[in-house]
Amino acid sequence: MDRPYQNPPTADTQPLRLDQALQLLALSGVPDPRGEPGSPVWMQQLIDALVDLSSRDALTGLANRRAFQLALEREIDRVARSGEPALMLVADIDHFKRVNDCFGHAAGDQVIRAVAAVLTDSVRPMDLVARVGGEEFAIILPNCPHSFGETVAERIRQQVEQTQVDIGNGRALAVSISMGGAFAPQWVRSTPALWLERADLQLYAAKAAGRNRVLLEPTADSFVSHDEKRLLFDSTSFQDFL
Ligand code: GH3
Ligand code: MG
Ligand code: MG
Repeated sequence: MDRPYQNPPTADTQPLRLDQALQLLALSGVPDPRGEPGSPVWMQQLIDALVDLSSRDALTGLANRRAFQLALEREIDRVARSGEPALMLVADIDHFKRVNDCFGHAAGDQVIRAVAAVLTDSVRPMDLVARVGGEEFAIILPNCPHSFGETVAERIRQQVEQTQVDIGNGRALAVSISMGGAFAPQWVRSTPALWLERADLQLYAAKAAGRNRVLLEPTADSFVSHDEKRLLFDSTSFQDFL
């Protein structure tokens, strides 16, 4: 920080206590807000930085469960209004306990980070990847036609399978994920809990069926319009799928 922040006098007797917020941001490597400390512009930047920090998972930098919940509610609204198809995928690392048990917690953390990076690189910028539990992830794919769901999910699974995770001391590990998926019901309002539950059911089934596989809730085949295809072609990652 250029200048130490001093709590400004306010109309009531309680000054704002921002020192801890600033320390927290500094600890997380977030640049200090710019401008005159205490000014509205400066305060807005501070609030934005805190909101961003409270939306992210500290280990991976992905959206955390809280941010995922918010995004889910927004997506349900969007689907109900527009009728566009949206896919939710949930992924869980297979036999992850063995990684911790055999190679230590630090190696486990490294595996979680590596899987997070592969998931992020495997989807479009408009898709949201979140870490929703220890070694569990969820992805929201807005505007993903039913006929592409299986291919997209399978592609992500394969990219994780092909990754060698560097766990230090010259050692590399191969890991796999199981994935479940479900589309939001179009034109009918769902709830975050119901949608997540349907995707989770498929994930449990994928685990039970032997792991390292993808299972999506069956949907009626839907026609993919020219406009839908164009939307997908305009964004980078789906081009390879077709
Ligand atoms: P399955 O194939 O059925 O998913 O088996 P699993 O061993 O992956 O599943 P389980 O849920 O039994 O193990 C998850 C483990 O993840 C247990 C917990 O100790 C570990 N874990 C949770 N959060 C973290 C974390 O942040 N870092 C590390 N290293 N381990 C974590
Ligand atoms: Mg798990
Ligand atoms: Mg697991």
